[in-house]
Amino acid sequence: MLKVGIPRALLYYQYYPMWQVFFQELGAQVVTSPPTNREIVTWGCSRIIGDACLPVKVFCGHVLSLVDKCDYIFIPAIHSIEKKVYNCPKFMGLPDLIRASVRQCPPILDPDIDVNVERRELYHTIYKLGRSFTRNPFKVKGAVTKALATHRAYQAQLQHHKLTPAQALAGVLPGAAGTEDEAPSLTVALVGHPYLLYDEHVNHRLVQRLQRMGVKLVFPEMVAQNELHRSISEVVESQYWTYEPEVIGAGDYYLRNGADGLILVVAFGCGPDSLMAEMLQRPAREQGKPFLRLIIDEHTAETGLLTRLEAFIDMSRRNRDGFRHIYTISSEGGEEMTGIRALGIPNFANLSAAFNTSAKMLNISLIAPPVTKRTLSLGTAHSPEFVCLPFKAILGTFIESLEQGADSLFMVTSSNACRMGYYAKAQERILRDLGYKFRFIKHSKPKSGLPGVLQIIKGCTNDAPWSLVIAAYRLGTAKLKALDDLERAVQKVRPVEREKGTADRIFHETVTAIDQAPELSSLKRVVAEYHRKLSQVARDEQAVPLKVGIIGEVYVVKEPFINMNVEVQLGKLGVEVTRTRSTFFSEWTRPGAFLNALNDDKRKLERFARPYLNRDVGGHGLESVAEKVRHNADFDGMVHLLPFTCMPEVLAQNIMSSTKEDIPVLTILCDEQMGETGVQTRIEAFVDLLEWRRRRRAPR
Ligand code: SF4
Repeated sequence: MLKVGIPRALLYYQYYPMWQVFFQELGAQVVTSPPTNREIVTWGCSRIIGDACLPVKVFCGHVLSLVDKCDYIFIPAIHSIEKKVYNCPKFMGLPDLIRASVRQCPPILDPDIDVNVERRELYHTIYKLGRSFTRNPFKVKGAVTKALATHRAYQAQLQHHKLTPAQALAGVLPGAAGTEDEAPSLTVALVGHPYLLYDEHVNHRLVQRLQRMGVKLVFPEMVAQNELHRSISEVVESQYWTYEPEVIGAGDYYLRNGADGLILVVAFGCGPDSLMAEMLQRPAREQGKPFLRLIIDEHTAETGLLTRLEAFIDMSRRNRDGFRHIYTISSEGGEEMTGIRALGIPNFANLSAAFNTSAKMLNISLIAPPVTKRTLSLGTAHSPEFVCLPFKAILGTFIESLEQGADSLFMVTSSNACRMGYYAKAQERILRDLGYKFRFIKHSKPKSGLPGVLQIIKGCTNDAPWSLVIAAYRLGTAKLKALDDLERAVQKVRPVEREKGTADRIFHETVTAIDQAPELSSLKRVVAEYHRKLSQVARDEQAVPLKVGIIGEVYVVKEPFINMNVEVQLGKLGVEVTRTRSTFFSEWTRPGAFLNALNDDKRKLERFARPYLNRDVGGHGLESVAEKVRHNADFDGMVHLLPFTCMPEVLAQNIMSSTKEDIPVLTILCDEQMGETGVQTRIEAFVDLLEWRRRRRAPR
């Protein structure tokens, strides 16, 4: 009988009964790992690098505890279980992450579960999984039916009998010991991801501790789905992340229904929670109820945790007994805004130089302050602590734009699971809570391509005539192309120029000239001029530049202030830099391939990324892995730039470190504490290594 190993971590608390029945119906024996213990945590932390969150490290430890006990390990890649609702990228890339981190792992059963794809494709995925055990499709169908029935029964047990997953999985019957029915004095809602709430080792027996403090605990699984979704629409309009019901849904529901306090258990470095916790602040303030964000990682000490719990319980009791402080929150959206005069946009890497003139043509002024130390400190001061750096920089830009008179702000949203898709919601909330009055224009990639984009522009311009909208768009995208071509040209001259800094001086002059070009013909003259100037730069004909690719998250890759001018620093050290196509915005607006320009490239990238990463994990994660593999032979090294705790890139970082392609990769984690000297020292050491490696490989 084949044995299937199921790690007792992450989705185990929600789906174990369903998975167990499915494999048993197919004639397999299911083996689970033991409850989390110190050894499992140590094993997991020793394999997963960087700032991945504790639950993923714990999961890896559970896999290691199963490696010699089963024929397969079951690790589904859960992308989405509800239409247009996304799972954290770490769930999407989990099978690939484990395959990269646990070399001795038995074969992994890794079906891609994504309800946004065609139903037929989903069925095919399940049948393919079933075929590892039987060739009989009816047997697979039967197993699916039984498994789904078990899941429904399990959920009903949680909801109607008010059991926690840990109790239900332990076979605790409703009303059995351990479920308090004496009348404790205080009711506290404990919300968060099930693998944080119900893994006693990870949360230091939080549930028992609170119950011993005489607290009645209520949990997300005890709330009806419709109530959870009502709360989500109240607080954040629509659901974006899979775990929003357990965090925002349950949190808001209990704040309005009987809880005296709210505890949100968060893993350090958790992407989704860094923003969802922020969104829960407001309902907690509105209800005047204490809200504790309990952050856990592998270094969390029991004493510190206990002290915080005791202080919180005291405060909740006093608050309930009358010392309640209700905050009045400024009303949503403020007064009705008339016409757009000044539009603030997230400005990074000279973006405004492409669109300033176009905006003037449409009778609006574009306010796009450059990213500076002040931008970052403003953004950091008002952002959730653990949110990724681009969020903080863009929020800082918005605050400066509003200070400089912007009456409207424009922000793109995305639907690919990384935090970017949640930026606009949280930034709008923070800016309104700071008392700013503005119109917030949010747009995701229009399905209708170019017409959709022109429609968006028209919407931002007090309904300007189409002829003007099209002319402004043409000029803006032509300038975008000129800026990108200029960047690529300078990347080639910088490493070989005799007088260091010449190419960059021409670059900055030309950016200003491109910005000021009033129409297409003068833009053409500017482009011809800078090509002439660059071709006349005195070069070191003996120089053989090292070739380095820059990969990673688009904002930190493109914004020189944020990445400490990494391209210029490398150029000065004689390195020719190449960036991925998707970091050149004109690639997205090239005529004829509008906005899908990179799909063809994406398919090529997927081929390079396989077998290390077999699915898209949001952001630029797949691209980073693919580019390392693609350029193993023609580049000397790669520089991987990622915001601290960036989920897709943390996955890529872990997977890249295990590929057989051994091109050196310098990983630079970007956050607001990063210092220029530190980055410079690391780059110099890296270039020395590449030089040494090239000399050693040079034919004798
Ligand atoms: S980042 Fe957050 S949502 Fe993602 S696996 Fe970690 S704890 Fe879970």
